[in-house]
Amino acid sequence: MTASIIDGKAHATALRAKLIAKTVDLKAEYGIVPGLATVLVGDDPASEVYVRNKNKTAEALGFKSVHHHLASTASEAEVVSLVKTLNAEPSVHGILVQLPLPKHIREESVLDALDPAKDVDALTPINAGLLLSGRAHLVSCTPMGVMILLRETLGDIGGAEALVIGRSLLFGKPAAQLLLAANATVTMAHSRSRDLPLLCRRADIIVAAIGKPEFVRGNWVKPGACVIDVGINRIVDASGHSRLVGDVAYAETAEVAGHITPVPGGVGAMTIICLMRNTLIAAAMQHAVPLPVV
Ligand code: NAP
Repeated sequence: MTASIIDGKAHATALRAKLIAKTVDLKAEYGIVPGLATVLVGDDPASEVYVRNKNKTAEALGFKSVHHHLASTASEAEVVSLVKTLNAEPSVHGILVQLPLPKHIREESVLDALDPAKDVDALTPINAGLLLSGRAHLVSCTPMGVMILLRETLGDIGGAEALVIGRSLLFGKPAAQLLLAANATVTMAHSRSRDLPLLCRRADIIVAAIGKPEFVRGNWVKPGACVIDVGINRIVDASGHSRLVGDVAYAETAEVAGHITPVPGGVGAMTIICLMRNTLIAAAMQHAVPLPVV
């Protein structure tokens, strides 16, 4: 193996320590305790685990954490009404509506009801637009996690050729905007792109968010490139064991890349802690005090 492994857990632990210190400062200087409200609709077991981890992390950082669990039969109007109540609650600075929602509830209706100042997942059109304008304070959590990993691994990425594979609202689009803001030369690829291997071969940085197990092959990657694997896919291997893999064929890519994120333990480890970063920033914004630099 030639690539150095980017240890997402270690980077997340370092950010966590900074957030704890800034939370103590915010309380001591201004009496502000950041508050995160989570909303879960239905009983999807994976979503329940994600939400529980978010609440636990918020509490461990010294935040106020409240959770609302609605039945899978809850109506769109009920979810929208809960979001509006949380918008008006001064002790709640961040609202996280766990997606996906049950099929009878339109995500757009719920996101449209969400106060952009409390949109700590940065999914509302206002926050997407602010990102495009270079004025966003709340940035989608996984793309922000990727940028922190890149900055701490590579330093200045100005002029680098960066390829983002995937153009979702949740990841690909905000990731491309952040890379552009960091002065990379950005290419976005998607399911209609021609010759993905060719696009990969010229990239100094590859960010793969496709949702297809081990799709990016080692022989597509330029020697020394930095490969960030956002994908989380559960597969059953030849021996019948279930395990998580990314969108990149890890072992063969690690033979050629300069840096690579593992799955698990790479990008995924950064997402929750970036949600907490957004909640801290949202709390400072809502009280009009200087934004913590983290
Ligand atoms: P998504 O909404 O399904 O988007 C997938 C993207 O991949 C689409 O833009 C699609 O192109 C593109 N794509 C599909 N097949 C392709 C192909 N053959 N060649 C090139 N591009 C192709 O998924 P997502 O929400 O962005 O998530 C992507 C992956 O990241 C998933 O595995 C997800 O679990 C993971 N993820 C992890 C985290 C985390 O670490 N916490 C957070 C978010 C996502 P089209 O637009 O043309 O369909």
